[in-house]
Amino acid sequence: MDKKRRAFLWSGDKSGHSSPSSCLIAWIKVCSPKDFGGLGIWDLGVQNICLLLKLVHRLQSPQSSAWAIWVRGQVDITTLQGDLHGDHWQTLKTILPLYQAITMVEVGDGNTCSLWNDVWTGDECFADRFLALFSHSNIKTQTVKEAKTSGIRSTLVPRLSTMADHELQLAQRLLDQTSLSAAQDKRILDFLKPDNNIDTGAIYKMLKARGQSSDPKATFIWNTWAPPRVQLFMWLLLQRRIQCRTVLFTKHIVDSPTCEICNIMDETPEHIIHGFSLGKEVWRRLNLQSMISMDMGQLHTLSNHTSTVIPELPSFIALVCWQVWKARNAKVFRNEEHSV
Ligand SMILES: [Zn+2]
Repeated sequence: MDKKRRAFLWSGDKSGHSSPSSCLIAWIKVCSPKDFGGLGIWDLGVQNICLLLKLVHRLQSPQSSAWAIWVRGQVDITTLQGDLHGDHWQTLKTILPLYQAITMVEVGDGNTCSLWNDVWTGDECFADRFLALFSHSNIKTQTVKEAKTSGIRSTLVPRLSTMADHELQLAQRLLDQTSLSAAQDKRILDFLKPDNNIDTGAIYKMLKARGQSSDPKATFIWNTWAPPRVQLFMWLLLQRRIQCRTVLFTKHIVDSPTCEICNIMDETPEHIIHGFSLGKEVWRRLNLQSMISMDMGQLHTLSNHTSTVIPELPSFIALVCWQVWKARNAKVFRNEEHSV
């Protein structure tokens, strides 16, 4: 599917074929959220995980799902181990740790709450909190109910390190302070919609945002009034990846980077936007002199260099850059002259 989507984005080809040369930005970057410098195209792998999380959540809160009630009869819901097989089920199992990481359990009867891997007291799971103790555990699938009944000690190796012994005291105390009730364990998570379904959009955002810092270019590109086509152009421009001759030359598509209009300079993104005669004249007449020396990779910092700051500046710049680009294309491909 990604192959087809990539081909459609870069060459409008619905058959799924795209030459590597038509792909301007790596697909992984394309699938980053706009806030982080990408194009915000859905990352299907991550989207799939979000949708599967919905199923895992349904298993934990089975009230209205016949499927969930049936599955709970086949497997141990705390570990998803049991009499179910197949790729789909294996994948659900691999997602369980993520589900446990984004949920907390309000302990009821303790039957579906993992002693080690669920967060059911404090804000860490036992496996993270009592590292030494966890490494001495023989049965890592114990539920809170089982631990309450038989104690934590019975599932540990016979000899404990000093550290593990110390942690055992702390863990057992926390367990003793927790009382069970007849109610089912309840999952608490920040990503619930009013209908008790998981808000996959919010989780998707969180998963994609992990490890990324917000891209200052994003606001400049996407918070504008410019039409999406122009925004996409600006996204390429700020990465200096528009189809100019220096870019095409690097990809061995043309045999010279020299500008076809002046036949002197290399045709860089800067040369197109403010280097050739029309571009230069446009910015001069708009009294945006600082544009004329601007590195396109730094275009989002333009307002630092202009005396009058107006909120519409990014939209305005985007639309002018777009018009200059169209004038360049008209000249190069159809030998038409656009007036300033
Ligand atoms: Zn030129």
